[in-house]
Amino acid sequence: MPTAEDWGVALRGSHLASAIDRITEPWSNAIIRAAFLGARQFETFQQALGIPRQTLSLRLRGLVELGLLRRHLYQTQPAREEYRLTPLGKDLYGNVLASWRWDRRWGDPHHLMPKKLLHRRCGHTCTPQLLCPHCAAPLSLPNMQPELLAGASPLPLRTERNRRWRKPQPAGGPALGRDILAVIDDRWSLLLVAASMLGLTRYDEYVQALAISSAVLAQRLQRLCLLDVLRRQPDPDDARRASYRLAPAGTALFPYLLTLSAWGQALASGPDTIAWRHRSCGQSTPGTVACSHCRETLLPHDVVRPASPKSAKVTG
Ligand SMILES: [Zn+2]
Ligand SMILES: [Zn+2]
Repeated sequence: MPTAEDWGVALRGSHLASAIDRITEPWSNAIIRAAFLGARQFETFQQALGIPRQTLSLRLRGLVELGLLRRHLYQTQPAREEYRLTPLGKDLYGNVLASWRWDRRWGDPHHLMPKKLLHRRCGHTCTPQLLCPHCAAPLSLPNMQPELLAGASPLPLRTERNRRWRKPQPAGGPALGRDILAVIDDRWSLLLVAASMLGLTRYDEYVQALAISSAVLAQRLQRLCLLDVLRRQPDPDDARRASYRLAPAGTALFPYLLTLSAWGQALASGPDTIAWRHRSCGQSTPGTVACSHCRETLLPHDVVRPASPKSAKVTG
């Protein structure tokens, strides 16, 4: 049985960690969502997101540097540029659909996301589902088995650099708004959810596995419990200690993390360190995000918003 440290070393060297390191810069996820909803010009992003102009400018530049967006000159006199999704950016589509699905079920309805999606290939409104490409059954955490792959070596530790995350609110205060951005815009929160999916439950296990500082860990655990992504309970082996389990909303983040991990493959320099095996059919798979009606893989140019008057494409 792998130890917490084995899982931690593997997690830190995994394709998932490569992806998490690139996409958790605050606002990045919101900008990518807006790009899939058709935003291209600076002003459109600014109006859709209400993001400070200087921050938007920095983030767009960052996403261009990461290769998710590219600049496109759409007018020469005067010169005007817009931002378009690159192939690497478009590869995040399944992941964006997974976040849409989570928000529809577990989040406070997010104004950036359309209420319904229409799959043009089959002509039906649909819900994106993560399916096994081998046996076509839906994939969820309880029917997946994580496996350590050979060659895991820890990556150099990164210093904490996320600044904009919503702090836990005092007991008795207003409820914390729960959209998926509250979880996925924070690198440590995502790594903690991933570690929980690998079976880690205790404070000391998280410290050991993630090389996270005690203070940062305590803040993130408190916040994930307030969001009801994790639940704190007495450790069955020692009632003086706490253990943490994924709440249903935490377990439901599995398709988000699996699609993010699949996307991370394009960014990573080496092979992955963790694989997920579908217990029902025995195949190891990253899954594919498919239409709930016809079960075909959903591609950006095939999905539109049915309710929009102009039927705006959900694409880049
Ligand atoms: Zn399967
Ligand atoms: Zn369909």
